[in-house]
Amino acid sequence: MAETTHASHNPAEEAVPTTKVKEWASATRIELGQWIKTLKLSSELREAAEAVWKKLGALESALVNKTQSETEARTAFVTWVAENDWNGGFAWYLEEKAKVVAEANRRKADEAIQRFIATARTEAQKATKTQGGLGTVVAGLADIATQQTFTGTSGAYPYLPANGKHPIMESLLARTGQGEAWTVDNCAEVDAMNKYLYAIKAQLMTDVHGKNLYFHAETWNWDKRIWQPRSACGNCDNWMKIIGARRV
Ligand SMILES: [Zn+2]
Repeated sequence: MAETTHASHNPAEEAVPTTKVKEWASATRIELGQWIKTLKLSSELREAAEAVWKKLGALESALVNKTQSETEARTAFVTWVAENDWNGGFAWYLEEKAKVVAEANRRKADEAIQRFIATARTEAQKATKTQGGLGTVVAGLADIATQQTFTGTSGAYPYLPANGKHPIMESLLARTGQGEAWTVDNCAEVDAMNKYLYAIKAQLMTDVHGKNLYFHAETWNWDKRIWQPRSACGNCDNWMKIIGARRV
């Protein structure tokens, strides 16, 4: 009974694949070998890890030299872990591997977010071609929560009918002190934010997750005759600060 229980908790049974065992053994041995060399281990754990490393080498050799079938070689390794790896060298390898995989996934997810945030800029640059009359400002807005982007044009919002101005936008603007030569409702960012509020069907201020919002504005440079990023607007910075949105 004790044997059965022990066997059912053998970490190798799940971790070792049933196909392409040779490739798995080779990659695992190389990885484990690097960790043995570079990580600080207790002598007991080091010994256990080295024993696993050798056993992986034996598994690989058996498959390279075809002295065992894939199934036989796999079973031999899995059984060895259950019966001989008392100090958990293989379980330790799996723990380290899980950490490496988790870190790689985290980095991948982070890169995807960064790529999406950058669309605030590319959307704004695209919009300069279609909705950016010279002298206007266009804004791109990326919402990482819904993975949607919005664009806005300066001067658009004030001309919207009353039922086209979202109540939350109106309330944010009411709390915004004018710090620029233009009125607080005039900006491209306001137009983009208004579209976002309708798109997410915001009912309350708490529906607005400003930390997920990234704005980018482009403006026409008359001297250089090019569109270029415009970093800050004292008006919009006020309401962006209230909701915790950022510029990129
Ligand atoms: Zn502004």
